[in-house]
Amino acid sequence: MSREVKPEIVSLCPLGIPAAPEPELLCIYGTGDLGRSLGLRLLQSGYRVAYGSRRPHSCGPLPQGAQVMSHEAAAQSAGLVFLCIHREHYGFLESLAPQLNGKVLVDVSNNLKKNLYPEANAEYLQRLIPGAHVVKGFNTLSAWALQNGPSDANRQVYLCGNSAEAKQAVEEIATKLGFTVLDRGSLSTARELEDFPLQLFPEWRLPLRVTVGLSAFFFFYVLTGDVIYAKVVNGKDISFRIMVSLANKVFPIVSLIMLTLCYLPGIIAAILQLYRGTKYKRFPDWLDRWMLCRKQLGLIALGLAFLHVLYTLIIPIRYYVRFKIGEAIISRSKENTTRELDTTTAWRTDSYYSMGILGFAVYLLLGITSLPSVSNALSWREFSFVQSKLGYLTLFFCTLHTYLYGWSRFLQPSSYKWFTPPGYMLSLVLPSVVLVLKLLLLLPCVDRSLTRIRQGWERSDPENDSKKSLLT
Ligand code: NAP
Repeated sequence: MSREVKPEIVSLCPLGIPAAPEPELLCIYGTGDLGRSLGLRLLQSGYRVAYGSRRPHSCGPLPQGAQVMSHEAAAQSAGLVFLCIHREHYGFLESLAPQLNGKVLVDVSNNLKKNLYPEANAEYLQRLIPGAHVVKGFNTLSAWALQNGPSDANRQVYLCGNSAEAKQAVEEIATKLGFTVLDRGSLSTARELEDFPLQLFPEWRLPLRVTVGLSAFFFFYVLTGDVIYAKVVNGKDISFRIMVSLANKVFPIVSLIMLTLCYLPGIIAAILQLYRGTKYKRFPDWLDRWMLCRKQLGLIALGLAFLHVLYTLIIPIRYYVRFKIGEAIISRSKENTTRELDTTTAWRTDSYYSMGILGFAVYLLLGITSLPSVSNALSWREFSFVQSKLGYLTLFFCTLHTYLYGWSRFLQPSSYKWFTPPGYMLSLVLPSVVLVLKLLLLLPCVDRSLTRIRQGWERSDPENDSKKSLLT
């Protein structure tokens, strides 16, 4: 490799103190946005920078202290070249192959779309200059992040390449610039790195689809049972309820179902393991995918629960509510009647609110502990205690909150508009099933078998055993 390690020329200044060795010179091809930001950052970190440009005399202002020259001259001056140019313009590099042979070429390029080209940009570059050591990296940083320095949140640099020495050289530079380096292996993973900046919330896609699907279903379900039913059967227009009342029904319903969806796959997995008598058989792909998006499901559920809290807090200031309360007071004073305090209702509503508050508080705790900065500070046992035990406690509180909301209405025929149960009753089915199944799994005899299976014990296969015994 010709990224020559120059012998450090240590000269002595007149006072006898050794002068600092000359900083390493790095080359950047391209004086565009990324080239300038990278150059500035390299200069700030103590490197010397030489730009290689098509127009060395008219390329506009560059970071102070940088030199600018032709591509050929820049290639000859440094052992490491950052290619801050678009892949579409790589063609001219072929003519520079003699000067670039043996050098480290850092490919920072990205594409506009996935699979735009048959091979990764870095592999294409390696094919153009087979004698160079191509390293893919820095492409997940933006020019803006580079300019902002280490204070920016994006501190990770991904690298891949076939030469360990070349990667080591790039890693040293990245570390000096204040980044954490993640080595992703050989150049064959370059396409993966090039696809990173093009990703659009891949792990949120399924949970968001579930949220939209459930919200749309329950919105029309509640709309039919409340607004359309009132119009058709009673001739009353209560469509104004869509904005707050209906929203405040849909959000908690979807939130409770989504919270349950975080715990249901764990229950299914446990049942599968008990049925199969081993943990060494793979789960179906759909179950794996489901388990992988539990965190996102839970965070969306928490967001919806938060909206439910906000909508509930504005109830006392709603015009409709204030009007109704005023009406009730005036009509009672006109009739000169009073009412006894119904302690059962007081108990029910207090318990209902209390369960809601407790459920939301533990829900928040779950959300906070799922943040990487918090979860990294927890031991595995602490994390699993919060996510599993407190998670089921949240589900229990929220389910009880919904049961208390329904109270005696479960038995009132008037609750069942057009013979269908209200939305909140539907939302109780899944959490109730999950809580009952969890209780069954906690039974000592079941829990013992499950723990043994999870520790590696396998139920023997009677068919194989009989064959074995026949052979012996
Ligand atoms: P840019 O502002 O368009 O700059 C590209 C530079 O390439 C130009 O300034 C020019 O420099 C050189 N160039 C243009 N046409 C050329 C040609 N026909 N032949 C040779 N050189 C040519 O682009 P950029 O935003 O800096 O991006 C550069 C590369 O970094 C791209 O591959 C991009 O995908 C990648 N990247 C950019 C960012 C970002 O935030 N901008 C982030 C990650 C990765 P000279 O005039 O000096 O020759």
